[in-house]
Amino acid sequence: MKEIVLKGIPAASGIAYGPAFILDKGEFIVPKRIISSLEVDSEIARFEEAVNNAKKEILALKAKINQNMRPGHAQIFDAHLLVLEDALLLDQVTGAIRETELSAEYVFSSVIKKFVEAFTKIPDEYLRERATDVNDISKRVLKYLMDESKLHDLDSLQDDLIIVAHDLSPSDAVSLYNKKIKGFLTDIGGRTSHTAIIAKSLGVPAVVGLKDATLQINNQDDVVIDGKKGLVIINPGVETKELYIKEQHKITISLKKLDDLKDLPAETLDGKKISLMANLELSEEISTVRKYGGEGVGLYRTEFLYMNRLDLPSEEEQYKAYRNVAEAVAPFAVTIRTLDLGGDKFISSVQIPKDMSPFLGCRAVRFCLERPDIFQIQLRAILRASVHGRVSMMYPMISGLAELRRANAILEQVKHSLRSENIPFDEKIKVGIMIEVPAAVMTAEDLARETDFFSIGTNDLIQYTLAVDRVNEKTAHLYEPAHPGVLKMIQKTIDAAHNEGIPVAICGEVASDPLLAFLLLGMGIDEFSMPAALMLSVKKMIRCIKFQDAQRIAYEALQLTTGQEVEEFIDLQLHALMEGYKAGG
Ligand code: PEP
Ligand code: MG
Repeated sequence: MKEIVLKGIPAASGIAYGPAFILDKGEFIVPKRIISSLEVDSEIARFEEAVNNAKKEILALKAKINQNMRPGHAQIFDAHLLVLEDALLLDQVTGAIRETELSAEYVFSSVIKKFVEAFTKIPDEYLRERATDVNDISKRVLKYLMDESKLHDLDSLQDDLIIVAHDLSPSDAVSLYNKKIKGFLTDIGGRTSHTAIIAKSLGVPAVVGLKDATLQINNQDDVVIDGKKGLVIINPGVETKELYIKEQHKITISLKKLDDLKDLPAETLDGKKISLMANLELSEEISTVRKYGGEGVGLYRTEFLYMNRLDLPSEEEQYKAYRNVAEAVAPFAVTIRTLDLGGDKFISSVQIPKDMSPFLGCRAVRFCLERPDIFQIQLRAILRASVHGRVSMMYPMISGLAELRRANAILEQVKHSLRSENIPFDEKIKVGIMIEVPAAVMTAEDLARETDFFSIGTNDLIQYTLAVDRVNEKTAHLYEPAHPGVLKMIQKTIDAAHNEGIPVAICGEVASDPLLAFLLLGMGIDEFSMPAALMLSVKKMIRCIKFQDAQRIAYEALQLTTGQEVEEFIDLQLHALMEGYKAGG
């Protein structure tokens, strides 16, 4: 078989090989099957039975989680049941089976497609959203009409597969946790999409933005992923495979070498100590923080606790999760970020409008300010957990002082009620903000006076500064971390923070690139937070350089006028430094 090479966007480095599994969640391929006129009645009976089974399944699901649900959540199931009882839909399907003499699954999926299309054209946003519900219901029915093995159910996936999908939502990626997936490939997406971030957190390579990987790769095709270069090789020949096995071996050896740095301090040759922390998406991953020598958690993305479930996590559940993390990283600190839903992260329990431009829509702190009921529960849980370790918290996507004050006002109310209930919390808990919106940079002096620390979220700051969607592969080449406009934003943020005497951390993906980390270090970043597995290579860089050189080179880099010039300059300078230090012993 011919070897085919696809080039995409490198999203998580590493090498993997194995059989491909095409995860086409959106659409089931339902073959057109003609039946005989004698089969019509039994086909209709089969359809009715499938609908009944789907209804039973929904009722059972509803009963199972009823105890934990709030009344609003039961409505999701009730709405699904109503669709399955819709006489118009049922009559249309049975009528068409009779008329066309085509199989129940084919007719049902054609009718449902028309329903979905009709929904997507409704101007009312809420009703338009219901198309997803109808799709979900259709899958439940189709499961009973078709050979199960043809349907893709994330829960029943076998181990050691390379998942190939058109798109993979962050919640789908999270649901693959514990599944021993070898890697991810997607047609769309950018390098800082949350799916890419989850791949890093699961420690598997990923290539995104491959455009038509789902068409080029077939189920069970042998596939090699080179996550660093963003390459995918379909049907690799013996030589290619050997080459990659060798490459993987080399990577394993160099990672083992890095392991020796685990317990050494992140300190420059001229004695500047840097705080190296880990980003955390799933509390189950907490052991990786210490495994890679992390000094705590600089960004705990709590929204993943809300995903892949029909209810919202209760205060108690959140408290336990935050407390576990705080205790596990002690004596080091954890910075818990309040809910950052929206953008590319959605959950089932709350209908967030899927805005035309979701990253510019009701996202992060905006959502929390609109839903103080949900926000307060999280704040209570964080505050309660704060007595069990060194806990600080921060709000994502703050765009100015008014927003910060509104969030803080809710926090004060929550503190007040905890005090009146005699529930302890750390009265001195540090409250910071993420700097991800250009308006926050421009007002950073004011913000710095009313907050305890900044944490720069470059994944978003880059997309909002350059007007480049972080999950759109078509504009991925314009997503330039070293763009002078971005660097000036970062420098302004650092200066504002330091003028007001507060520290500034960085927790976007750039922090994990040793080259950019070197530049950021020279610019004055106090704390670095990144995917746990990448901390050691940044530590290696820190331990090989002098802070004063980093400062000098960063100053020069900031005088340059294009992103490419900056990257080339830093690359050259860093390598020259390393060589020089080596030569000088
Ligand atoms: C960022 O925007 O850089 C960040 C760390 O937050 P997230 O990637 O979760 O949006
Ligand atoms: Mg962000």
